[in-house]
Amino acid sequence: MTITATRPVLEARNVRKSFGHVEVLKGIDLEVRTGETVVVLGPSGSGKSTFLRCINLLESVDGGRILVDGNDVGYEVVDERLHELHPNEVARRRRDIGMVFQQFNLFPHMTVLENIIEGPVGVRGEKKQVAIERAKRLLEQVGLAHREDSYPRQLSGGQQQRVAIARALAMEPKLMLFDEPTSALDPELVGEVLKTMEELANEGLTMVVVTHEISFAREAADRVVFMDGGVIVEQGTPDQVIDNPQHERTRAFLARFL
Ligand code: ADP
Ligand code: MG
Repeated sequence: MTITATRPVLEARNVRKSFGHVEVLKGIDLEVRTGETVVVLGPSGSGKSTFLRCINLLESVDGGRILVDGNDVGYEVVDERLHELHPNEVARRRRDIGMVFQQFNLFPHMTVLENIIEGPVGVRGEKKQVAIERAKRLLEQVGLAHREDSYPRQLSGGQQQRVAIARALAMEPKLMLFDEPTSALDPELVGEVLKTMEELANEGLTMVVVTHEISFAREAADRVVFMDGGVIVEQGTPDQVIDNPQHERTRAFLARFL
């Protein structure tokens, strides 16, 4: 089955978001299909995090809609609506989406294994044994099979971020969002996290990745999106956007990485 034949996991239509009088998202349209890896590039302040936060219902949108696997998670009204939603309803809508942040935010008093099964057992009510089996498989997948009894403080930043990825995957999301997952890491630890993410991309996980790691975009992305000033300036294959950018703003941004 070709990628274009599958229906979108994410459909964002004319998404708008303001903070006070400042319009941060000025009509974002983006479709992500099953198995696709989309890398979002763009300067600081261009609205990348806000867009991911809107997808994951951490922010409400002021206009447009966001559909995740056909479920409408968008709001065409004001901010307050999100806070009016029952927490169970927010959780239900968020169920299909996993998110990995710059800061890993693992629970410090829980072991690696406990961190990973917390969601499936505590939130989703899964049988503990089933959750443990999956957690072990995921730890193997992120290269940390031997660390299930460690506490976060005993791990390097790169290992903690890989646990955070396993924890997000444990909820079996249909879409994974990564917001600068390697930006907080010491340079020597960046590669192991990117390698894990590249493997997940190759295995067909559907991912939207905000990163400044151009080499990751080149290797792992099916599509690269360049955002600036709250709009998508251009998008295409890595070859198109990174090697042959059509817009001056894209060229100026990429020039910093040469
Ligand atoms: P990026 O992730 O591309 O660096 P962000 O989405 O974090 O950009 O921010 C886009 C703009 O929105 C910035 O000008 C930022 O200051 C502003 N912004 C983000 N979050 C908030 C907030 N909660 N309240 C007010 N302004 C915000
Ligand atoms: Mg950001």
